[in-house]
Amino acid sequence: MTFEEADLCESLKRNVSKSGYVKPTPVQKYGIPIVSAGRDLMACAQTGSGKTAAFLLPILQKLMNTGVAARRFSEVQEPEAIIVAPTRELINQIYLEARKFAYGTCVRPVVVYGGINTSHAIREVLKGCNVLCGTPGRLLDIIGRGKVGLRKIQYLVLDEADRMLDMGFEPDMQKLVRSPGMPSKEERQTLMFSATYPDDIQRLAADFLKMDYLFLA
Ligand code: AMP
Repeated sequence: MTFEEADLCESLKRNVSKSGYVKPTPVQKYGIPIVSAGRDLMACAQTGSGKTAAFLLPILQKLMNTGVAARRFSEVQEPEAIIVAPTRELINQIYLEARKFAYGTCVRPVVVYGGINTSHAIREVLKGCNVLCGTPGRLLDIIGRGKVGLRKIQYLVLDEADRMLDMGFEPDMQKLVRSPGMPSKEERQTLMFSATYPDDIQRLAADFLKMDYLFLA
């Protein structure tokens, strides 16, 4: 698959090319068609592999296909996608990439992480949010305050899952996937990325993903 052949609209392709991407990396080449086809994915991919675009591009395209638009200034936001990553640096990088790709489209990404003032984060979310990017604790905080409803979630991405386990975030991840309103794994599409594939990541994948996920070596 080249970016030209990918199931992406012209504005996404333009934003990809403006980012200087010419040739897809292996995780993009194999991952984008799987995500575009609506399948769950467990991918072993390192930082620097291009995994961020591998999940963002097909998710953004699918959101555009269904014609989502952020409900501006609504008291409760109901995003269609949640992306979770362990550190503020990583989630901010993902958010910036999402903003770049979503430029000129109807999709509005927002980022929340510990360290941003909570009321500022909530204000940003309430301005309108389709793709909510966050670190686990801050996401649960904002969901727990009733500012984010989960019933419209179609896509859940857990990035650097092995680092999340190392940093002690498993209880938060479990709490998130079992939060009131969160669609079951049969109802949502779940993508998990991890640099390593030890037993506890395999256990999480079996728990959070539908069993048809593919494993990319
Ligand atoms: P990631 O692994 O997603 O954090 O990406 C690592 C870096 O590679 C980021 O700076 C991306 O902007 C860049 N990158 C990702 N995919 C490509 C591509 N196909 N061509 C050129 N650069 C890319």
